[in-house]
Amino acid sequence: MLISLTKILLFIVIVVLISSGLAYLLDAKDIFLGEIKATIAGTEYIVTPVQAALLLALLCAVIWLFLKVLSLIVSVMKFINGEDTAISRHFTRNRERKGYQALSEGMLALASGEGQLAMDKANKASRFLDNPSLTNVLAAQAAELSGNRSKAEEIYKNLLQMPETRFVGVRGLLKQKLEDGNVDVALKLAERAFSIKPKHTEIQDTLLQLQAKTEDWDGARKTLRTKLKQGSLPRDLHKRRDAVLALSQARGIMEEDQSVNASEHAIEANRLSPDLVPAATMAARSYIKSGKPKYAARVIQKAWQAQPHPDLAAAFSEIAPDETPDQRLKRFANLRKLAPEHRETKLAMAELCLAAEDFEKARKEIDGLLENEPDARSLTIMAAVERGEGGADKLVRGWLAKALGAPRGPQWICENCHTAHAQWTPVCENCEGFDTLSWTSPPVANMSSSTGLEMLPLLVGISEESEDLLPDVIDPEGKTITEDAEVDKIETAITSRTT
Ligand SMILES: [Zn+2]
Repeated sequence: MLISLTKILLFIVIVVLISSGLAYLLDAKDIFLGEIKATIAGTEYIVTPVQAALLLALLCAVIWLFLKVLSLIVSVMKFINGEDTAISRHFTRNRERKGYQALSEGMLALASGEGQLAMDKANKASRFLDNPSLTNVLAAQAAELSGNRSKAEEIYKNLLQMPETRFVGVRGLLKQKLEDGNVDVALKLAERAFSIKPKHTEIQDTLLQLQAKTEDWDGARKTLRTKLKQGSLPRDLHKRRDAVLALSQARGIMEEDQSVNASEHAIEANRLSPDLVPAATMAARSYIKSGKPKYAARVIQKAWQAQPHPDLAAAFSEIAPDETPDQRLKRFANLRKLAPEHRETKLAMAELCLAAEDFEKARKEIDGLLENEPDARSLTIMAAVERGEGGADKLVRGWLAKALGAPRGPQWICENCHTAHAQWTPVCENCEGFDTLSWTSPPVANMSSSTGLEMLPLLVGISEESEDLLPDVIDPEGKTITEDAEVDKIETAITSRTT
């Protein structure tokens, strides 16, 4: 009631002041000639324009002061009326208003990318507001934005002091340490952040990645379990990732030569994710070692059904190392019927036929592959078939040369960064992604070697009659190169494979 009355009065005063000011100015016709005449209460005053401006400014100041005093008077009157805290609240309100204004301006500056301005506003806000958690958070972000890392670090450390901002401080420091590549400190910070907020998905992922990187497989499995419990990871993905971790654990233990433990983990990894190839081979090998070839065969067959892979074939061979090539062919028939049309099945069978010197059957196995998806492996097998059947040297070399320029076939490729890995690893060697490797062909750009096709004519020693026999890819216009050591190397490899 009192306040609205004051507001009305104030409005009237302002209107009166403005209108009388305008009247004086209109009266002073010679304003631009150097003086203003004004008559107040019968007395005539003469002022210069500079004096007039000063007077106006003074008037504004007086009005501002008047408003302040008025507001104070209102508070005093409230105090007299019995509100004990009215006066102190009057001053606090003023400071708070200024503080929050600075805070909101600072946040706007932050959003518009003005780091330094945001920093200034944060400092101003912290002077007026007794709320260090809020102003420090703004200041830290402003410092980050303006690239002042040491200032940001200092503020993050301040944030650690208060329970409500501790997480923000830890997370800020964690990000800085990750940028610096300081893995050990980052891991400790991530563990601390995780203990404060175990449900924070970003922290869960960061912690998991750091644990995988530092090979803390036990810790990583715990983190993974928390993720599953909190529903931030689907059950089947958890199973697969847990298998990868169990496998990594097994590999780690194997290096320390505690093979019993390693076997347990490998078998567990295989149980969790039967189609994880490295887990299946490792489990199979530990079964072979402990004299359980039937278990080994079962593990490999299950994995082969999901994804035929050369490592599985190798482990399957190891079940009976002393058998003859014919016996092996017979035993592999069990694998073959699980995925008869798969590329890997055909290649494995063709290689076994080569070993058994059944060249015609080998050719039959890979015939389809040569038409649809020729790669270095199938073309090399073809060269061996040609040699085995007593084909012309030039023809053999033709196949080998073609193999040089052909795609490499599937490899362990990271789904994130497309880096090829010679061996499966739980963490990508390039982008450090966890469980990102899959057995696929690399993207087209990476596939063929630049030398292969140019070298072909010379490697093949191409002539009119052999040209027709060779695959179409070969370019007879190619330039001369004097090296054919590469082909010899492959040839030797083939000869050793067939014998
Ligand atoms: Zn990667």
